[in-house]
Amino acid sequence: MAIAMYPGSFDPITKGHLDIIERASKMFDEVIVAVMVNPRKNCTFTLEERITQIQKCVKKYSNVKVVSGSGLTVDLAKKLNANILIRGIRAVADYEYELSQATTNMMLNKDIETVFLVAKPEFSFLSSSIAKEIAIFGGDIGNMIPKEIEEEVNERLLNKTSL
Ligand code: ADP
Repeated sequence: MAIAMYPGSFDPITKGHLDIIERASKMFDEVIVAVMVNPRKNCTFTLEERITQIQKCVKKYSNVKVVSGSGLTVDLAKKLNANILIRGIRAVADYEYELSQATTNMMLNKDIETVFLVAKPEFSFLSSSIAKEIAIFGGDIGNMIPKEIEEEVNERLLNKTSL
């Protein structure tokens, strides 16, 4: 059975992330979305909020589940019996970072493969940060954030002075 884990911050989940999840769900028997505690990032939404948000968006996919994780990504994958890591690539800038992450993970555990899925053109500019910046100023985030959580994101961000 091919179990893939899709790790990330998902602060919050965007339509770009969701598209990667949907495509991965067709490629693998099971997809585990892992919301990781990332010491490099100051998140807008708590870990619990991000998990609930993703759960609302992935209800329709029967082979997708959501977990939280901390520590090394490869250790969590091993614990969950996932031997594939999914990552999304939007542009060359992503590639450089993702390549170093994937190579590091390969050195840490040679049995876990990273699979890159290329972002759809309509989502290749999209990041959680961009959506949040637009929401702060009351802009329309309808084509960036899944409708299940759009209201929550707008309410949290509107008129905030920082992310
Ligand atoms: P991280 O903090 O681990 O980079 P993110 O939530 O920012 O977490 O991203 C998780 C993964 O999803 C990364 O591989 C990132 O490149 C990818 N990703 C982010 N936004 C998009 C998008 N719009 N389309 C496709 N992949 C994306």
